Formats: sequence, C-alpha cells, structure tokens
Amino acid sequence: MNSKYPVVARRGNHRCEYCRAPEAIFNFPFEVEHVFPTSRGGSDDESNLALTCRSCNLHKSDVVTVWDSVAEEEVALFNPRTDRWSEHFELELERGEIRGLTATGQATVTQLHLNDPIQLMARLLWIQLRLFP
Ligand SMILES: [Zn+2]
Repeated sequence: MNSKYPVVARRGNHRCEYCRAPEAIFNFPFEVEHVFPTSRGGSDDESNLALTCRSCNLHKSDVVTVWDSVAEEEVALFNPRTDRWSEHFELELERGEIRGLTATGQATVTQLHLNDPIQLMARLLWIQLRLFP
C-alpha cells in the first residue's frame, strides 16, 4: 500500500475523489493516484495525490487532457487538488448519473466511464444503502 494512503484517504474522506464512490462498501482500500502522472514528471507530493476507486484509476491511467472534437481543443480532466467537484459535476439521483457541468466535467465523465451501466447499477445500490451521495 502507498505510504501516503492514510493522509490521502483521510483528506478524501474515504471516497473516490472522481466518482465519489464510498470506500466503506469495498473490501479493499482505495488507491492513491497521481493527478499528474509520474510518467510525465508528476511528483509524489501530497499535492499531486488523490484517492481513487479502481475503476477511475484504471480509466484515467496517465491521461491529463482529452481532445474535445466540438470545441477543437484539449480539455483538462477534473483535478481533485485544484478543482471543486460541485462546479464540474452534478448528480442525478434517480438514475444514479453523474453529469458534467463544464467541458472538464464532461470530459472526465467520458474518460473515466462514470456512467457505464455497471457504475449506475452500483451507484443506485449505494443510494439505497444511504452510502451515497
Ligand atoms: Zn471512482
């Protein structure tokens, strides 16, 4: 386990900092992710770390920006260290969807597969169990 897990997990309130999944319902600690990947020179400093679920970490990989074909520009993915979640996303509780409110929010929803059927199914169960949002 990453040595900075205790600090990062506490700061993230034991939730995935991208999809807000509650760590308490999983049977394994969430992962410490580098917001700016080490493969691109990102540091191990706490200011570059975020708590993520396996799904978000897997889909984010070393991606930092994605090409927005409509705006024809690179759009930054959500950065849990510098962006406010509520400015970029909103929840639609009836369907369990996370909606992007900004280009960054929309790019992140797509890149991290935040509304894949399996995500929606899990989120609806967490809502029923009062573990989400
Ligand atoms: Zn997640």
